[in-house]
Amino acid sequence: MLFVVSTPIGNLEDITFRAVRILSEVDLIAAEDTRHTKILLDKYGIKTPLSSYHKFNIKTKTDYFITLLKEGKNLALVSDAGTPSISDPGHELVKAAILNGIEVVPVPGASAMVTALSVSGLDTDKFIFLGFLPKKPGKIRKVFRGLIEFDGTIIVYESPYRLIKTLKFIQEVLGERHIVVARELTKKFEEVLRGTPSSITESFSNREVKGEIVLLINGGKALENSNPA
Ligand code: SAM
Repeated sequence: MLFVVSTPIGNLEDITFRAVRILSEVDLIAAEDTRHTKILLDKYGIKTPLSSYHKFNIKTKTDYFITLLKEGKNLALVSDAGTPSISDPGHELVKAAILNGIEVVPVPGASAMVTALSVSGLDTDKFIFLGFLPKKPGKIRKVFRGLIEFDGTIIVYESPYRLIKTLKFIQEVLGERHIVVARELTKKFEEVLRGTPSSITESFSNREVKGEIVLLINGGKALENSNPA
């Protein structure tokens, strides 16, 4: 069996009893960064061997893990944080396992997008998750243009180095809207900022943007008046 195991997005206590048990019981853990996952395993006294699985060895390692699974071994797949496959490695292995008739079992837990949405105060009935935006300005504009009429919440994974630029694109294409910046969730410097592209840009005018960020944008029409909620 291949277990797809979610791990914490910061606070190491955010892991399920079941995830700890499965990680202890499988024959091997395929991990995006073995040193990173070792910290989690040490905290819970898990001794299972680790094998790296990241974007530079996906092809060879997918074949290797499928061979082990076909031999009857049980494997767990984890990424550095949250749910594997969600803007993280994992999809190739899951796909290959399915094609080879291997059972794929989810072991659910944290994911930054859902965690951020749950405290955003924005519409949770309908949302679209874009993962990371493209790098080129033209492509970013195109993505946002396609969502001008979308009336649910738009969720994006964003780098601290690009946040301010992205807020500019939002203002330019989507107009002033309610925005939520969920930063360093579950960690020491956790912060959830609510405002508009301009008010949030202003709030970072005298400090550096740092840490891991989920950016959420209110869908529907732009605000007539640019005051934050
Ligand atoms: N697989 C992960 C998940 O399920 O959320 C996402 C992995 S993706 C490579 C990493 C991105 O997720 C970060 O750049 C950031 O946008 C977001 N992220 C991860 N942890 C976060 C946290 N603690 N607070 C805010 N955003 C986080």
